[in-house]
Amino acid sequence: MRVCVIGGAAIGSAVALFLARLGGSGVQVQVVERDPTYARASSALSASSIRQQFSNAINVQMSQFGLQWVKAFDVGFVESGYLFLAGSQAGAATLRENHAVQRSLNAPVELLAPAQAAERFGWLNPQGLALASLGLHGEGWFDGYAFTQALKREAQTQGASYRRAEVVGLQREGRRITGATLDDGSCIEADVFVNAAGPWARSVAAMAGIELPVFARRRTVFQLSCPTTLPRTPLVIDTSGVWFRSEGDGFLAGWSPGEHDADPDDLPLDADLAQFEERLWPALAERVPAFEALRVQSAWAGYYEVHPLDHNAILGPHPDIDNLVFANGFSGHGLQHAPAAGRGIAEQVLLGRYESLDLSPFGFERVLEGRPFLEKSVI
Ligand SMILES: Cc1cc2nc3c(=O)[nH]c(=O)nc-3n(C[C@H](O)[C@H](O)[C@H](O)COP(=O)(O)OP(=O)(O)OC[C@H]3O[C@@H](n4cnc5c(N)ncnc54)[C@H](O)[C@@H]3O)c2cc1C
Repeated sequence: MRVCVIGGAAIGSAVALFLARLGGSGVQVQVVERDPTYARASSALSASSIRQQFSNAINVQMSQFGLQWVKAFDVGFVESGYLFLAGSQAGAATLRENHAVQRSLNAPVELLAPAQAAERFGWLNPQGLALASLGLHGEGWFDGYAFTQALKREAQTQGASYRRAEVVGLQREGRRITGATLDDGSCIEADVFVNAAGPWARSVAAMAGIELPVFARRRTVFQLSCPTTLPRTPLVIDTSGVWFRSEGDGFLAGWSPGEHDADPDDLPLDADLAQFEERLWPALAERVPAFEALRVQSAWAGYYEVHPLDHNAILGPHPDIDNLVFANGFSGHGLQHAPAAGRGIAEQVLLGRYESLDLSPFGFERVLEGRPFLEKSVI
């Protein structure tokens, strides 16, 4: 069997790795990646953090599998936990519901009353908080670029080959894709094609006449310094939509727009510096009084590949085409889910079913039916 994977960052490389590993000599895997430097790829511009604190059981399990690979690859894993904060009784109820899901899967998480959180983290202002949820271990952050390179190296070791080129067209005959046209005019023929084009997945799908509701939404990450030294913090998800975590001697922080905030598609990848004054600083200084004196050292921007229906990935084939498989729309948690998605897609392609973990609820059918398979814990 010949498989052509379009996009060779974290998701494409994880798919290639598991295809080659499970398929052995029976499968030829060709990854087509237009930019091996990954200059604009989300995998290289990510905050590269991993958590077990999801609302959706499959997402918890995908992270648990991802954690094994993060640890095995030795990519600078800092095991420092996530601290989710709720500011209302409704928010606290959601944290409790999520906690029950997470504990049922043995995720080491603990609920903390605001006073307990403040006692544990002396820098935290608990005012206005209703509840907190802390990951005790198995959560933290790592070097996302190194992780992507490690997935790629392992895919190559297992037999996958990489080609530097851009896919500019897909040839479709009825229910099948027969070839991918490259920017040098050549064509790759294969039995199966996998769309792993991250924030650009919608345009790859359009080449096959498929509408894929995945949108490139810019997120800015700020690198900050603070004159007051704090002990290493967890990755804190504040009630304001602002997040922060330690990074070396300083901090990383960002903001995700809420339901009612503008979040346009395809903005240029320039950091939105105004966000610091408008969104981050007020929230950060309120939550951590020492952050009153924060300074911006640098900032960068990358794309979330957002699937607005339910903020969950779209995995597997489209009902109208038998041999075009999707691995898209991870909505900001794709790095940690790359190994589980890669394994699942490989099983789907080679065996025609999911074997290790049933990822069928992420299938394209729900998208077409407008039936969300919700993730409530979105950052
Ligand atoms: C600021 C930020 C913070 C994030 N934080 C986290 C986090 O803490 N934890 C987490 O798990 N995830 C996080 N994410 C999300 C995560 O980074 C992504 O979900 C993941 O990297 C997606 O991987 P990918 O391989 O699908 O996409 P990408 O890494 O974007 O790769 C897609 C690749 O496809 C290639 N490509 C596209 N079109 C074509 C074509 N036509 N032909 C050939 N090649 C093509 C591109 O060149 C690119 O290399 C974050 C993302 C951002 C932007």
